[in-house]
Amino acid sequence: MLDKSFGDDLIPAYFFDRLTAITVDDLRAMGAKGVALDIDNTTAVDSLYTVFDGVREWIRTAQDAGFKVMVLTNTWEKRAAIISAKLGGVPYISKAHKPSKEGFLRAAEYLGVELSELAMVGDQLFTDIRGANNAGAISVRVRPMHKEYLLPVHYVPLRHREHVFLRSKGFGDKI
Ligand SMILES: [Mg+2]
Repeated sequence: MLDKSFGDDLIPAYFFDRLTAITVDDLRAMGAKGVALDIDNTTAVDSLYTVFDGVREWIRTAQDAGFKVMVLTNTWEKRAAIISAKLGGVPYISKAHKPSKEGFLRAAEYLGVELSELAMVGDQLFTDIRGANNAGAISVRVRPMHKEYLLPVHYVPLRHREHVFLRSKGFGDKI
C-alpha cells in the first residue's frame, strides 16, 4: 500500500521569510498563545552567540501583546542560556532533541498553553517542523537567516534534503 502521508509531517502549517516578519495578528490568526523559538538560523547565527537584528524587540512586542515566549533548542545548555539572556531573558529548554515530542510537551506546560496553542518557529523541516507537527503544535517555518558555512558537514546535506522535499511538494519558492 502506498504511504501517501510520507513526508507530510515535514510540511509547515505556515511559511514566513523570517521571525520578524510574523506579526502579532499573524500569531492570533494561527490560534497561538505561546511561541517556542528555535535558535540556530532563526534567532541567532548558527554555532555562534550573535543574535539577529530585531529579534529581541520582536519578542518584547509579542510579550506585550500577551504571548508567552520561550526558546526551544537542541543546542547545549550554556549556549542556550547565553542566547536566551541576550533575547531579553526568555526561558529556555536546551538539548530538546527536536523532533522528539518531549520538548514540545515541556514547552507547552511551562508556558501554560495547550500544544495546539504553541507556535514553533524554526528553520529546519526535520527538527522544528516535523516535531511541531507530530506533537500537535503549530509549525511555522522561516527561511534560514544565515549562510551556513560554520558547519557545512551538517548543513549542506540537510538543506539539500529539505530543498528536494520542498520542491517535490510545490514549495520550491519557499527555499
Ligand atoms: Mg535552526
